[in-house]
Amino acid sequence: MRKKLIAANWKMYKNPEQTREFFAAFLPLVAGHTRDEIVVCPPFVDLYAAVEAAKGSSIAIGGQDVYWKEEGAFTGEISSSMLLAAGATHVIIGHSERRQYFAETDDTVNLKLKAALEAGLTPIVCVGEVLEEREANLTEDVLRRQCLRAFHAISGKKAAKLVIAYEPVWAIGTGKTATPQMAADAHELIRSEAAKAFGDEFAAQLRILYGGSVKPENAKALMAEEQIDGALVGGASLDAKSFTAIVQY
Ligand code: PEP
Repeated sequence: MRKKLIAANWKMYKNPEQTREFFAAFLPLVAGHTRDEIVVCPPFVDLYAAVEAAKGSSIAIGGQDVYWKEEGAFTGEISSSMLLAAGATHVIIGHSERRQYFAETDDTVNLKLKAALEAGLTPIVCVGEVLEEREANLTEDVLRRQCLRAFHAISGKKAAKLVIAYEPVWAIGTGKTATPQMAADAHELIRSEAAKAFGDEFAAQLRILYGGSVKPENAKALMAEEQIDGALVGGASLDAKSFTAIVQY
């Protein structure tokens, strides 16, 4: 049985005060919820406030990105050890907005993944096709390439904490959602790529989340798919009540 993981990606929303307000509202709503793992990934400047606010609860905190070097003259970047020192345990890697707007490539995803795993963080690696690729029947090729390159030169033993998020780019922030069947098909393909890279046993335990306009209204149907091991939630995770409704699908 794979325990589902529901992760909030706050993108570039909320400051430390708003972060504290969110947790003050959210924690009582999910107190005692043990069925799923819950992770909140706020902007870097909110990490401290989030970690403090979530102390004593089962909510984990994650970063939205990480650089692969340990330290150095890399203005604006944050390392895995910095995330860990701030109290984060998870990190999103290769989100489509980073691929689209900040020159993230399959190769930098691989470097970041290696660094995060080495440091002991739980990486949530995002893969997914854009609309033109889906329309051109290239979804499988794209997912295969993204997985192959992300997993390059990583051993199954090192990758133990890996989590994948399948996020069709056309479904992110658009209100369009992949049907549970579309997501399940993509997840099956990703799992088979993980099996090739890390072995069948690893693949059977790998959690593959779905992301792309997950809302309280569609969470139940998506989470009912056997292949879907949780959700990466953007817009609907900003409000404590709506994120709670998703967590309690
Ligand atoms: C995301 O940011 O990863 C995401 C899936 O966003 P949204 O839920 O808003 O589509």
